Amino acid sequence: MAATTRIEDIGVALGEDFPEIRASVRRICASFPGAYWRELEERSAYPTEFVKALTEAGYLAALIPEEYGGAGLPLRAAAAILEEIHAAGCNAGACHAQMYIMGTVLRHGSPEQKAQYLPKIASGALRLQAFAVTEPTTGTDTTQLKTRAVRQGDHYLIHGQKVWTSRALHSDLMLLLARTTPAEQVKKKTEGLSVFLLDIRACLGKGLEIKPIKAMINHNTTEVFFDGARVPAENLIGEEGKGFKYILDGMNAERILVAAEAIGDGRWFTRTAVAYAKDRVVFGRPIGQNQGIQFPIAHAHAEIEAADILLRKAAALFQAGLPCGDDANMGKMLASEAAWHAAEACMQTHGGFGYAREYDVERKWRETRLMQIAPISTNLVLGYIGEHILGMPRSY
Ligand SMILES: Cc1cc2nc3c(=O)[nH]c(=O)nc-3n(C[C@H](O)[C@H](O)[C@H](O)COP(=O)(O)OP(=O)(O)OC[C@H]3O[C@@H](n4cnc5c(N)ncnc54)[C@H](O)[C@@H]3O)c2cc1C
Repeated sequence: MAATTRIEDIGVALGEDFPEIRASVRRICASFPGAYWRELEERSAYPTEFVKALTEAGYLAALIPEEYGGAGLPLRAAAAILEEIHAAGCNAGACHAQMYIMGTVLRHGSPEQKAQYLPKIASGALRLQAFAVTEPTTGTDTTQLKTRAVRQGDHYLIHGQKVWTSRALHSDLMLLLARTTPAEQVKKKTEGLSVFLLDIRACLGKGLEIKPIKAMINHNTTEVFFDGARVPAENLIGEEGKGFKYILDGMNAERILVAAEAIGDGRWFTRTAVAYAKDRVVFGRPIGQNQGIQFPIAHAHAEIEAADILLRKAAALFQAGLPCGDDANMGKMLASEAAWHAAEACMQTHGGFGYAREYDVERKWRETRLMQIAPISTNLVLGYIGEHILGMPRSY
């Protein structure tokens, strides 16, 4: 970022920005109370009705340009939508990926691909919810991934395995990162990876198998096995071998949006904790009168506010087309930690009742813990700060 860039130059909004959108999202969320999410979790079911309501209101197409049937809103508006969903006690994990992975198609897809897919994604006719990057043996070391895509005539044949591919059983399309040139034949390890838009329905049972993973939260996440799945060559996004760059490109938006969810979670936890602390009387006074209860909630609130400002700056830089990686990474890390501190304070404030499912505290507590691990873990963000911001030797 140029040293002279001022906050006001990039238009960082303070306070409740996009108030109409926020109010409308809150109205939708009011129809999906805690009981809805608890019942889904018992069945490991997908929030189909919730996703339908958001799709029909146009919110999942917030970032798709108007010429393709979307709302053409800035990233900050999408962040406000996700923040409100989480602040209302709901969870956007079932559908948030559509917001940021369609950016890869938008930025790097051909005019034909954009015309073919984006309007259908915007209308909800096609669901682009599955993002297959992580693999069981290589983890965060993405360039070492082993899934191969081998060109054969007008198709690529895919062999390999992905893990934690969330929503794959509730998506029509999958954005897949696979190696097209063996690692030993490329100069830089980031080369030779390619991105494909895979039609899940066409491949299922024909070289593609998807198995749900039983996880700590109801995230509809899966393992994906490729054994010769055929992807038409026309479904390659951008140039062969440049896929890693395309995926990295979308990661700042992903970090900013997921962090907005953490901010929303943090607000839910502090609101819920404050209400309980004022109401619950023990030893003849509200527990919130005790500093041991009040201060952790107050501390988490301050951390949430600070992280929110950094994220607003990151979103404004993103919108202005300026480098935003530093703020997106730091904002994501701080938001996930602030949300976790709020979760801990809320859990402790509720005492034993924090463990009662009907309070939703334990569900949200489990859900918000994920944000320190996915989509990027705290250590990897610290490694980024150490190397790219502070100039220390690369640690990974
Ligand atoms: C519920 C859920 C949903 C997910 N959804 C998706 C999805 O839809 N699509 C997808 O592609 N992935 C998804 N993921 C995967 C997620 O992005 C990864 O789990 C995450 O990036 C961490 O990678 P890993 O689990 O392989 O951890 P690893 O890379 O194995 O790391 C394990 C731990 O070691 C630390 N570590 C590793 N290397 C270093 C180092 N050099 N220095 C310091 N610490 C280090 C990490 O920070 C981490 O804490 C999901 C994961 C979960 C749990």
